[in-house]
Amino acid sequence: MAAVNDFAVRRRRMVHDQIAGRGIRDKRLLAAMNDIPRHMFMDQTLWRRAYEDHPLPIGNGQTISQPYMVALMTDAMGLTGSEKVLEIGTGSGYQTAILAKLADWVFSLERLSELSRAAQRVLEELKLYNVNLIVGDGTKGWPEEAPYDAIIVTAGAPVTPGPLVEQLAEGGRLLVPVGDRGIQTLLRISKRDGRVIEEDLGGCRFVDLIGEHGW
Ligand code: SAH
Repeated sequence: MAAVNDFAVRRRRMVHDQIAGRGIRDKRLLAAMNDIPRHMFMDQTLWRRAYEDHPLPIGNGQTISQPYMVALMTDAMGLTGSEKVLEIGTGSGYQTAILAKLADWVFSLERLSELSRAAQRVLEELKLYNVNLIVGDGTKGWPEEAPYDAIIVTAGAPVTPGPLVEQLAEGGRLLVPVGDRGIQTLLRISKRDGRVIEEDLGGCRFVDLIGEHGW
């Protein structure tokens, strides 16, 4: 098994080649991806592949997103450190950890309690305490803490879930993959002067968003 500093070397290479090498410039984001030990968010049998350029299985038919997709979506959220963030699809908790480093507070919803519990253990081990993990249907958002400065959905939706747009603060950004099962377009939806603006950030592939306002 690889030694700890071996993982650090792989992580630096991942950030250099896959993230900075593809045009991500945000220094705080690059530092966060250098800091967070991605391998800890997956089964030990996958640790040697943890820094490869693609998604990996995390059990229950779900996946941990490709590092570059995590970077692209986080970059598009434009976090400065003061934001209250809502994440839909905790999964492994890796994206959650990156958000915890870059925002003030993260609320993260996951429909599968087993995944949420595993993510909670890793986030605690990493001493990331500015996170609330919630088990439930994220397509309805989490009205209790709304509005949010940024919302990220890491599962593919048939249409943009209405409650998430409603729970977005003025000036806020919602990142959501929308399209068919297995292939979507990454949308950035912003609220400015009460208007809703939609931008197309390109193609992507996520597992299904399942729920009242999903599949
Ligand atoms: N960001 C995660 C991605 C996990 S895959 C990571 O990198 O590890 C997407 C996750 O969304 C899965 O864990 C799936 O169970 C979850 N999911 C799907 N529909 C959901 C819903 N309606 N509410 C909350 N989570 C949902």
